[in-house]
Amino acid sequence: MTDNPRQPARRRRPAPGPATVTATRRIPGGMVRLTLSPEKPVSAMDLQYTDHYVKLLFPPVGATWSWEDATIDPATVRDVLPKDQLPVMRTYTLRSWDTEANTVDIDFVIHGDQGIAGPWAAEVQPGARIAFAGPGGAWRPSPGYSRYVFAGDESAAPAIFAGVENLPAGSSAEVFLEEEDAAHALDAPVAPEGSEVTVHRVYRDGAVHGTELVRAVVESGLAAEAASGTRTSWFVHGVAEMIRDLRRHLFVDNGLDRADVSISGYWRLGMVEDEWQASKREFNAEIEAAEAAAQAAR
Ligand SMILES: Cc1cc2nc3c(=O)[nH]c(=O)nc-3n(C[C@H](O)[C@H](O)[C@H](O)COP(=O)(O)OP(=O)(O)OC[C@H]3O[C@@H](n4cnc5c(N)ncnc54)[C@H](O)[C@@H]3O)c2cc1C
Repeated sequence: MTDNPRQPARRRRPAPGPATVTATRRIPGGMVRLTLSPEKPVSAMDLQYTDHYVKLLFPPVGATWSWEDATIDPATVRDVLPKDQLPVMRTYTLRSWDTEANTVDIDFVIHGDQGIAGPWAAEVQPGARIAFAGPGGAWRPSPGYSRYVFAGDESAAPAIFAGVENLPAGSSAEVFLEEEDAAHALDAPVAPEGSEVTVHRVYRDGAVHGTELVRAVVESGLAAEAASGTRTSWFVHGVAEMIRDLRRHLFVDNGLDRADVSISGYWRLGMVEDEWQASKREFNAEIEAAEAAAQAAR
């Protein structure tokens, strides 16, 4: 593992394997936590980061097969099924894992009846089978920083909570969590003894996803503080439109060093994940071009 978030290690993602849902429960924030027991032991997985994610594989709408058929091997399914039957991928963070119990926990945003993964998580029962590829991952708090800022909506909460739980001794963190409203507040992330966390709760209260989070982070003035010498590590993830606006705030308006910042869109308003993943490169290229033009105009 690299200690340096500037140079995240790049590894091939392990082949997909089957897993069984062993527990499901509602958690604060209107989310659902599923416990999965993978066939490949958790102890054999390479787990060193706090933003580990997996690609869950779902039968497509209209599928003539399901993972309940144990003869279907996730590792070879792409070679044997016709194109319109191929699994659909959805990306989810490993909130935690237990090598002794051989389980991983994943927290799902329940965002209505649109989509595949959210509605599945809302309804699935223990005993059901699923498959996933991974984990991948690239970030964890580095001892090279004593100051952290985390910002994200519910989709990034699992990675933010895991990050806060692994803060280095003597460090402090400001956490901006965007939540639906006060009645759907997430738990507060807990820092290890010897480090400190301050949580800023940002309620949408009907506003478009991301807009209140942008406002809160900009108004905090933390980017200006970081620019004036308080070297800070940033972890900012969630809805893509929020990422676009906060990139501009961090990189263009405050000139932060990109190497200090982990920032990416986890999902996009009005797009299913397949569309978002297919358009992400172009979205990022447009943002980078706009940032470069804004910087050149200064
Ligand atoms: C590295 C990474 C880690 C992630 N970790 C998590 C995680 O731990 N937990 C988690 O819940 N999500 C996480 N996500 C986001 C998740 O992959 C997306 O939200 C995904 O689109 C959900 O799939 P779906 O089938 O439910 O909805 P889709 O079929 O992809 O989308 C259907 C509709 O729902 C909307 N939608 C999608 N996500 C949300 C949302 N969060 N809130 C409101 N509307 C939404 C879409 O804009 C679309 O209109 C992560 C994404 C990445 C890239």
